[in-house]
Amino acid sequence: MYAQTLILDGNRVANQIKEDLAARVGQLTAKGIQPCLATILVGDDPSSETYVRMKGNACRRLGIHSRRIHLDQSTTTDELIAVIQELNEDSQVHGILLQHPVPHHVDERAAFEAIQPEKDVDGVTMLGFAQNAFGIASFPSCTPAAIIAILDHYQIPIAGKHAVVIGRSPILGKPVSLMLLNRNATVTICHSKTEGLEHLVRLADIVVAAVGKPAFVQGDWIKQGAVILDAGYNPGNIGDVDYEACLPIASAITPVPAGVGPVTIAMLLKHTIDAAEMTNQ
Ligand code: NAP
Repeated sequence: MYAQTLILDGNRVANQIKEDLAARVGQLTAKGIQPCLATILVGDDPSSETYVRMKGNACRRLGIHSRRIHLDQSTTTDELIAVIQELNEDSQVHGILLQHPVPHHVDERAAFEAIQPEKDVDGVTMLGFAQNAFGIASFPSCTPAAIIAILDHYQIPIAGKHAVVIGRSPILGKPVSLMLLNRNATVTICHSKTEGLEHLVRLADIVVAAVGKPAFVQGDWIKQGAVILDAGYNPGNIGDVDYEACLPIASAITPVPAGVGPVTIAMLLKHTIDAAEMTNQ
């Protein structure tokens, strides 16, 4: 049992980020510039619809204009790319977010690559990924950036620690691994073909769960005093970590909901404002 586990409160971290952003939105609007995020949703996946709505609401609350584009399930790759190109050329739009996943028949990578780097506020392009790998990204992927922001907010040391990341997706597992490495953690990246996963997780000072499987990480996989960041968000508001089982063993843990999720949205808002400021310098 860990004496007193710290609950890493994502709402608290997000609110602090948003407080700082409110002043910057005020400065932009005083110059006649309204930051604008365009979100593109293809198809009718209910979870994706919820995410896009939450992002739009968060924009509006902060005074960021939210332009919502909802395309039919049958939209082709070429049609989607044409919409993205129109947004690239629209000087009123500062950030473009293509909600993942897109329907199977759409070439998601081609669509992501169509986003102009200056408007790639979710760090989904190959250039954005590479810049993140070099530690020079203007817009690192929002969820990885949120995980780092939570660690920094609570002044949890990263350098020299052994971080085990479960998941290697291009928007989450891989970029967060690189960000932790750039902060001098020793990083182990695990995936579906990893052998001895539980043994590797037991060695971790920092565990990042980005698997997409409800309550996947078990309490008896966790080293006493480890820090757990649960990026998972599965139906029923369930993370990728068995929260109740891990809580007494970890020194710090993010809950689901109200952990990584709200900070991810705050990062998206921040990147949109950064983009608006950059284009108007
Ligand atoms: P993803 O693209 O499906 O990737 C899942 C990763 O988990 C893959 O790398 C996969 O390995 C690995 N994996 C699957 N089963 C495994 C197993 N049994 N053992 C070890 N690794 C396994 O998912 P994602 O987009 O990265 O998202 C991951 C989670 O984060 C989901 O719950 C998603 O809802 C959540 N998410 C949350 C936010 C937020 O704002 N909080 C944002 C984005 C995503 P392979 O590569 O070998 O297939």
